[in-house]
Amino acid sequence: MGDWPRIKSTILDSVGDTPMIWLRHVGAERGARIALKLEAMNPGGSIKDRIAVALIRDAEQSGRLLPGGTIVEATAGNTGIALAMAAAVLGYRALFVVPNKMSPDKIAILKAYGAEVQVVPDLPREDPDNYQNIAQRLAENLVGGCYMGQFERQANPKAHYASTGPEIWRDANGQLRAVVAGAGTGGTITGIGQYLKSQDPNVLVIGADPEGSILSGGSYHAFKIEGMGEDYYPETLDRSVVDRWIPISDQVAFAMARRLAREEGLLVGGSTGAIVAAAKIVANELASDELVVALAPDTGRNYLSNIFTTEKGG
Ligand code: PMP
Repeated sequence: MGDWPRIKSTILDSVGDTPMIWLRHVGAERGARIALKLEAMNPGGSIKDRIAVALIRDAEQSGRLLPGGTIVEATAGNTGIALAMAAAVLGYRALFVVPNKMSPDKIAILKAYGAEVQVVPDLPREDPDNYQNIAQRLAENLVGGCYMGQFERQANPKAHYASTGPEIWRDANGQLRAVVAGAGTGGTITGIGQYLKSQDPNVLVIGADPEGSILSGGSYHAFKIEGMGEDYYPETLDRSVVDRWIPISDQVAFAMARRLAREEGLLVGGSTGAIVAAAKIVANELASDELVVALAPDTGRNYLSNIFTTEKGG
């Protein structure tokens, strides 16, 4: 038998350790420099690859998910893609409930991995037919079904405390003034915020939030940015770790996503556009020798049909 230590046993072994890249053209006009942590470099194309295996292991260990079972989840897409990839490797079926504002590109990817998809109207969290409530009911009524619960399970923020946060701290050489992330479940901002503050309590944790989401304090109205912004506070969001929320419009977010592709060669999604726009506001207020890290949750390939083929987008 040969010896091939660098060959990975499955695609799941290549999740994480994503690169951080300086913004050279679309960053702040003055003030701090901005580096973007590119989560699109994960094999499923998003930050959610990091939580998929953690959620599955959590469900297996608590006896909720049994061999040959079906993973059921409510997802705006990326968690579904990550879970579908992991399900294919680990031998589970996968069934996803997605809101109808989700891009057709992401739905096609879920199906490509062999998952089943139900598209439902985008209704408020308290509505019995909200996508999370439908997914939960489906799991309860399905033999071998297991609701993964990314909005409730602490395995979600813990995965970011264990991997995303330490990677940022390492690549920033411990010299970091602020980190900017979005919040959908809040898992990312909670996990990285808690970890970075445990290393340096002075690190500013900034939440970029779509205009229309309640997290930044406004009243709810619909918005087009996918994957972040909420009409309620998820259990996986620790609001005490966020120093400041910055609301960003769909139009500003999508225009920034297009600039990132054309001026930096970074094909990223609309939520990244919002996060970079918020990072610019923060960086403008800081000194030129300081570092702001912005988290780019996913790839622009998820949004070819709704952000990158129209000039106006938002
Ligand atoms: N942006 C996109 C595109 C996402 O899919 C998600 C995950 N819902 C987020 C941002 C926010 O991440 P989190 O759920 O960890 O708050």
